[in-house]
Amino acid sequence: MSLPPETLSLHKTVRKHYLSLPKGEECQVTYVWVNEDRENLQSKTRTLYNEPAGIRDIPEWHAVAADHTEATLVPVRMFRDPFTLDPDKLVLCELVKRKDLPTGNNPRSQCVTVMDEVKQFQPWFGMEQEYILFGLDGNQLGWSPDGHHLQEVCGCVVGANKHCGRDISMSHYRACLYAGVKIFGSNAEVLYSQWEFQVGTSEGIEMGDHLWMARYILHRVCEDFEVVASLDGRPLKGSIYSSVCHINFSTKEMRSEGGLQHIEEAIRKLSKRHSRHLSVYDAHGGADNIHCLTGQGWTSSFHHFSTAVGSREVSVRIPDHVSRMGCGYFEDRRPFANCDPYPVMRALVETCLLGVTE
Ligand code: ADP
Ligand code: MN
Ligand code: MN
Ligand code: MN
Ligand code: MN
Repeated sequence: MSLPPETLSLHKTVRKHYLSLPKGEECQVTYVWVNEDRENLQSKTRTLYNEPAGIRDIPEWHAVAADHTEATLVPVRMFRDPFTLDPDKLVLCELVKRKDLPTGNNPRSQCVTVMDEVKQFQPWFGMEQEYILFGLDGNQLGWSPDGHHLQEVCGCVVGANKHCGRDISMSHYRACLYAGVKIFGSNAEVLYSQWEFQVGTSEGIEMGDHLWMARYILHRVCEDFEVVASLDGRPLKGSIYSSVCHINFSTKEMRSEGGLQHIEEAIRKLSKRHSRHLSVYDAHGGADNIHCLTGQGWTSSFHHFSTAVGSREVSVRIPDHVSRMGCGYFEDRRPFANCDPYPVMRALVETCLLGVTE
């Protein structure tokens, strides 16, 4: 059940009083981590008595893992808190179950290891996160009995009759900027309450860290509006449209003169490892994507790899402007909205730069 709008606005007004109470030097630090399902986020907050200057000033903490054993929260990246403001922090953490194993099966640590190996290539990433907004009643935001909410439009539309949820997209954008999340942009997507934001352009592991924090901030912003952002790729039964998370990728060579040849070489390698990539491009080992990469609604085929310049119905696209310039980056359109960015980035780098073929 959602609160009536007047109750919600009363709550927000009353909350202002408490948040404006004077306090001393104390700093509220919110530890944020990715659940073991690699899809959901969790967080908890503690007081530090001095403002941390960097990640090293933030102590490890503990949390309970899914199997009820105790796990360690290892801080990896610090952001400003856009909800309670300076000096408070949001801190992305790795949930480490076995402190005695340096990387174990922690997807972030594994990604860090691979990114260290390819540092000389200066790998850059940018990811395009799509999501769909729902009300607490389970209906798509802006749901109406006449089916208005089901209309499919082109992306980037303007007009209250064409989309729903710009307040949330705008608030999220500004909160990311405040936090120090590298948000690249945002736009309305093709469904009524569907939006996209992009994160990047980031070198190496920063990409995944910033995307996870941008997702966390999105869920927190949505709490304030009493709506829910679904990163499920296909939350609308009966619609061919889904939410995806395109990943854009380049190396120093690809960005330099004559780079197109290196882009094409990387795409050739990707074409030979299609199914391996799909197995890490959604939160369920490929089980989500098989229903969504249907070749309809701006998607490519789950079963066959394809590529082209300027086409949005292929697995991997070379943007038109990149083809014209002869250098730049390419876009892998296969990752699903609920993907964990670390294994996606890792697969790209292993295939394109480390020659892994298995
Ligand atoms: P699209 O045209 O596919 O909708 P967007 O404008 O939504 O693309 O997003 C572009 C993405 O490409 C951004 O995330 C940006 O960070 C990323 N990007 C731009 N240049 C590069 C580059 N040289 N290497 C990697 N990513 C890049
Ligand atoms: Mn407790
Ligand atoms: Mn986009
Ligand atoms: Mn999009
Ligand atoms: Mn795209």
